[in-house]
Amino acid sequence: LTARVLDGKAIASSILETVHVRVAALRRRGVVPGLAFVVVGSSEPTELYVARLTKLGKRVEIDVLVRALPADTTVEQLEQEVSTINADASVDGIVIQMPLPEGLAVARLSSVLDARKDVDGITIESAGRLYQGLPTHAPSTALAMVRILASSGIEVRGKHAVIVGRSNVVGHPLAELLMRADATTTITHSKSGDLSGYTRQADILALAVGRPALIKGEMIKPGAVVLDAGINVTPEGVVGDSDFEGCVALASAITPVPGGVGPVTNAVLLSSVVESASQRPD
Ligand code: NDP
Repeated sequence: LTARVLDGKAIASSILETVHVRVAALRRRGVVPGLAFVVVGSSEPTELYVARLTKLGKRVEIDVLVRALPADTTVEQLEQEVSTINADASVDGIVIQMPLPEGLAVARLSSVLDARKDVDGITIESAGRLYQGLPTHAPSTALAMVRILASSGIEVRGKHAVIVGRSNVVGHPLAELLMRADATTTITHSKSGDLSGYTRQADILALAVGRPALIKGEMIKPGAVVLDAGINVTPEGVVGDSDFEGCVALASAITPVPGGVGPVTNAVLLSSVVESASQRPD
């Protein structure tokens, strides 16, 4: 058995096509969807990411604005900046680039960032809405992993989904989304102990850890679906949290790294911007 390799680039392209069609319809009504990035300090991965999204934005005709703030920005200044962008009617989505420098408490952004514009679902309000099953923007990576399953025709209902990683941006919201899609979910983390005891039970194994090749082939159940959000820069290049060669031989389907969850995450983010633009108050 060799797993079906789930082509994130193809799934992303198809999402972006739909996004583009929706943008065109909005533009005909005079609504130009806008996405703003707030970047505090600078780092190469952030610059690459923002440049990538700016390019994708152009492709689907979403305006992308980047507000670069110095690394020594205070919480008050950040809140003020977000508040100003939030008040800008031409902006439908605001992404505050993570990680923020230490000391800039994200939680306080809930009071200055509208849930409609919180397209990456980082505020307490968005998280609360997600956990109460109310309409909201879920964090893009978690949403992307669910979108990959849906577009690949992989049934979630009744399956046991095991998630490795419990962060607020990926693992935890993913567990919520999978549970709402009627999976039985288990969340594991660095203190779980016998990790393979859990991963071997997974029909769907979702990885959001940040440890290269942590999950070996012998740690998965034959026929499992492996979703790998990990992005690990190694001397051999960018790799995921799964040992791809080991897992591809046993899984029924697997996302590669790169070219799996990453491109779909970008497309899903732009999709959330269009969704927000379509809800712009008159
Ligand atoms: P975090 O560092 O916030 O969380 C990592 C999680 O993995 C934690 O819950 C941690 O446990 C757990 N963990 C760490 N080591 C182990 C271990 N040995 N066994 C089991 N669990 C472990 O990372 P993120 O959630 O932000 O990101 C995870 C990965 O996903 C990273 O590689 C990141 O680059 C990537 N990523 C990819 C995106 C994409 O678009 N494709 C977007 C965002 C992230 P504990 O809580 O106990 O510390």
